[in-house]
Amino acid sequence: MRTVDEHRRVVAGLITARAPLAVPVADALGLALACDVVAPLSLPGFDNSAMDGYAVVAEDIATAADDTPVRLPVTEDIPAGRTDIPTLRPGTAHRIMTGAPLPAGATAVIPVEATDRGVDTVAIRAAARQGQHIRRAGEDVTAGTTVLQTGQVITPAAIGLAAALGLAELTVIPRQRVLVVSTGTELVAAGGPLQPGQIYESNGAMLAAAVRNAGGEVVASPMTGDDVDSFREVLRRHCADADLVITTGGVSAGAYEVVKDALTEGGVQFVKVAMQPGMPQGAGLLDDGADGTPIITLPGNPVSALVSFEVFVRPALRAAMGLPHTERPRRTAMLTEDLVSPRGKRQFRRGVFDPVTDTVTGYGPPASHHLRWLASANCLLELDEDTAEVAAGSRVQLWDLR
Ligand code: AMP
Ligand code: MG
Repeated sequence: MRTVDEHRRVVAGLITARAPLAVPVADALGLALACDVVAPLSLPGFDNSAMDGYAVVAEDIATAADDTPVRLPVTEDIPAGRTDIPTLRPGTAHRIMTGAPLPAGATAVIPVEATDRGVDTVAIRAAARQGQHIRRAGEDVTAGTTVLQTGQVITPAAIGLAAALGLAELTVIPRQRVLVVSTGTELVAAGGPLQPGQIYESNGAMLAAAVRNAGGEVVASPMTGDDVDSFREVLRRHCADADLVITTGGVSAGAYEVVKDALTEGGVQFVKVAMQPGMPQGAGLLDDGADGTPIITLPGNPVSALVSFEVFVRPALRAAMGLPHTERPRRTAMLTEDLVSPRGKRQFRRGVFDPVTDTVTGYGPPASHHLRWLASANCLLELDEDTAEVAAGSRVQLWDLR
């Protein structure tokens, strides 16, 4: 039997980064930059007003005060967006709006609140220091500076900066494109009628969401019956568009194990991993072209499938996209009840962590069809291979899924 850590290494070795790609700035959200961004221009691009008010020569209003206002003729009106930049002659004022280009010769801006808001002449009731309420060209960004670093994950603010610099594209490590294939002759798509013995397909929707949640992109999430030819046909149809294939079901010890039957002869290894849930696992490369698309075959039980995704696929998927937090945060908390765990296997139990009391409670039975409990758990308790019993009051390790 393979250990959890050994299988994690195998999966991580299979999932590799795509070549850097230039994408429209808006599409870079949440992705890691593949190269530094160097500012092609300065910000602000020109000296401009930080206030709605009047541009003046500061010396002209040195004596201005509430009871001794200084009156100046207003010779220009400069709204934001005016592109011909006038010159301010001493002894005059220009009415100016926030973000409008500062006229040559002006040394201060007086906020409108310190004036009588005059249009032809203006009475100014406060003196100004040199440079007051002026945003200088380049004081935010100087052209040629590195403003975003390789590896940095693009946030809305980073998109704002790139757009302010006039950039149309950013070069990122692209999303992994993932094909999610659900297998099982008993499966029916949601919305259709169920015959006795049939169930609604749920792994496809669940894992597609988990892939997106991890930062990946889902190419398609088809399902197929336990028939080798139709399974192979589904792979053939979608594989060219995928960087990774995830399958569920058809890998355990029964008959009609479609994934095993279809891929055992190829480059996929089927193994038992010493964990619960999720013992039957497979991983390898499809022989579908030059390098072969990586394929990770997860067990069919919904809890096994999602826990296996958390343990094996999610960390490798994020690492291949250069994203941080490849691992869920680990913490310990005090267990509120006695638990037993199979010796020799690492057990992942669903749990509810309460940060207020710093306790964790196992949530639902350990068997791998209890999806209901997983749906409302906020952590996985990790009980290691040597543990057979844990007493209430012990501190246990958990993976924080919040
Ligand atoms: P398998 O690994 O194919 O033997 O499936 C194990 C269990 O998981 C069986 O009870 C299946 O019916 C169930 N199962 C497999 N795939 C899915 C799926 N996509 N959605 C819901 N249940 C599934
Ligand atoms: Mg099956």
